Amino acid sequence: LQTQLIQAQKMESVGRLAGGVAHDFNNMLGIILGRLEFAMEKVHKNDSVYVDLKEIETAAKRSADITNQLLAFARKQPVSPRQLGLNDTVKNMLNLLRRLIGEDIDLIWKPGGSLWPLKMDPSQIDQILANLCVNARDAITGVGSLTIETGKQSFDEKFCSEHPGFIPGDFVRLTISDTGCGMDKNTLDNIFEPFFTTKGVGRGTGLGLSTVYGIVKQNKGFIHVHSEPGQGTSFNIYLPRFKGQNKTNMTMTGEKAASGG
Ligand code: ADP
Repeated sequence: LQTQLIQAQKMESVGRLAGGVAHDFNNMLGIILGRLEFAMEKVHKNDSVYVDLKEIETAAKRSADITNQLLAFARKQPVSPRQLGLNDTVKNMLNLLRRLIGEDIDLIWKPGGSLWPLKMDPSQIDQILANLCVNARDAITGVGSLTIETGKQSFDEKFCSEHPGFIPGDFVRLTISDTGCGMDKNTLDNIFEPFFTTKGVGRGTGLGLSTVYGIVKQNKGFIHVHSEPGQGTSFNIYLPRFKGQNKTNMTMTGEKAASGG
């Protein structure tokens, strides 16, 4: 709990700082890109200066992508939680995810039966899926497979006291596993740190998993990761069962419901 609190505080302050910098930086990039457009209109396409300007444009656009990612991370986007079924939400994303991971990687979908409902913003599930699938794709060289599985699980106090990180209660599980390179201990210890990346400059921002972590925490869930170098990785996301529906049903069967109110 202590480390989770520290992690949350760190994300909060890093997020605020990064958000401030990204905001100012984005304004500057706006000026750069605007002026660049003027300049490019003035030189002929065959001019060598045009090639230089084109490269500046590509770099500036890439910078804008990064600052936008930072802004999205820092800005707690307004969420509209609603009751939803995890299987339907995942199913709606499958086509997009297939395109995201490319043709060399098999996407296997294993929906679990009679899941409990969740209460969260469906776009947060989309974000979790997109981030985890991109990471799985990047971990696989050549052919491989990515499995998305759902299920439900309950944990009691005894189990949780023996398994650090687990929270007692009823949870819906979303598992994303890949046959990729896996992670060593040092990587595994740092994956949720904002800006931690092993992907190299210009490829990773190190914000994907801290974003996922933030979403799961916000929804009172938790994450469990299994990974071995050379053996692949599996991310288990546990999201709490939404029980509000039952309460509503109970009041609906009362007198008010009977009188049509
Ligand atoms: P980024 O993808 O920009 O590097 P993330 O926060 O999404 O940032 O991931 C942090 C790091 O965690 C990655 O750079 C990689 O080293 C490791 N990682 C995440 N997912 C996987 C995975 N499925 N397989 C192997 N390594 C992974």
